[in-house]
Amino acid sequence: MASAQSGHAEKFDVLIVGAGHAGAQVALALLHAKFSGSIALLGDEQELPYERPSLSKEYLSGKKGFDRILLRPANFWRDSGIRTLPGKRVTAVQPDEHYVTCADGSTYGYGHLVWATGGVARQLRIEGHNLKGIHTLRNRTDADRIRAELCATERVVVVGGGYIGLEVAAALVQTGKRVTLVEALDRVLARVAGEPISRFYEAEHRGRGVDIRLGAAVESITGREQGRVSSVKLADGDVLDCDLLIVGVGILPATQPLVEAGATGGDGVEVDHQCRTSLPDIFAIGDCAAHSNSYAGNARIRLESVQNANDQAAVVAKVLCGVPSTYDAVPWFWSNQYDLKLQTVGISAGHDQTVVRGDTSTRSFSVIYLRGGRVVALDCVNAMKDYVQGKRLVKEKLVIAPSLLSDAARPLNEM
Ligand code: FAD
Repeated sequence: MASAQSGHAEKFDVLIVGAGHAGAQVALALLHAKFSGSIALLGDEQELPYERPSLSKEYLSGKKGFDRILLRPANFWRDSGIRTLPGKRVTAVQPDEHYVTCADGSTYGYGHLVWATGGVARQLRIEGHNLKGIHTLRNRTDADRIRAELCATERVVVVGGGYIGLEVAAALVQTGKRVTLVEALDRVLARVAGEPISRFYEAEHRGRGVDIRLGAAVESITGREQGRVSSVKLADGDVLDCDLLIVGVGILPATQPLVEAGATGGDGVEVDHQCRTSLPDIFAIGDCAAHSNSYAGNARIRLESVQNANDQAAVVAKVLCGVPSTYDAVPWFWSNQYDLKLQTVGISAGHDQTVVRGDTSTRSFSVIYLRGGRVVALDCVNAMKDYVQGKRLVKEKLVIAPSLLSDAARPLNEM
């Protein structure tokens, strides 16, 4: 049971800030472990926790309604004993006195605090960025705003050729919109995948009618009457007319209150192998947590994936239950575009060799990344078997000859 505390409305043994993937998963894992203390899941969105990846996929295209992307139905949370506190934004943390303050003035005390606030979508800070019809895509409100404007939209410009930009382009071109995707670098997915994957996806999108502009910087945005976006001007002088502009250029970790409270951090809050921050009794997990990752050569990184959110949540729940645990999970990720399922395992950044396994023209193949001869990552396109079997190669950091890896007739689990 939560207890009343002088000066604070309520105190919880575990207070989770951020009701997204990571936050919800801590609560669920504690429940599963029969944690005996009180748990509150506090978040600034109005919704109960939902599957964020669907926002750029089935939810955006209208194939799934909101009820179908909830992580758990409303009655589950009601019956669970976990206190959900939606519509609450934490603006300050008092680590010495163990309480947080929300934007509405309410305060909540905690025994342990789990900071799981994800990130805020980056905006384009250029002339015209405030016009109507310009959106980022991070939460349900963003997706609903985009969906509401689609019926009056013929032309869409998507800025950013990362996973989200490409998924949005795929979803919208399939609903009959004319889509142009603008990427500043010379290939899409440049930060996360090797060139064979980039070129394959560029060709797939172009084949479906997406106009992809590479090496193209957005210079300014122009509006028409009523302050609505009408075109985007590129640095090379090209002007792209549009009714809707969607910006997918990454996130900034949502860590300000915690960093202001003294937590060590830069790009994300720094955590140790148990996801503890530098502040007493405060953990940080998910997109906002900068951790040392053995699959990235022990570099301190943030991972933006459901896998990372869930696996870090599982570690924190164990630690809170007194069960020793450290985070060292194999990173994995997926992206759905058209009928293509991309599954990634490991971290390809820093690779020095790339092996293509299979024939890209069959639309079922894998790209394997090596560093110093060791397998560090795989990108598998419609190649579930490679993905499942390749996980072990990455986990065990195996040294395998490229000539073997490229032989698609030879299963990876035999290597
Ligand atoms: P979130 O799920 O973002 O949850 C954080 C929550 O905290 C949010 O509700 C936020 O509003 C809230 N919050 C922030 N600040 C405060 C505050 N001060 N007080 C209270 N609440 C606060 N990952 C994949 O693995 N595969 C995919 O295909 C994929 N597709 C994606 C598509 C889209 C459109 C997006 C946006 C993300 C996608 N991701 C995907 C990434 C994945 O959704 C994130 O990695 C995951 O949601 C991270 O979980 P999290 O709990 O750290 O953050």
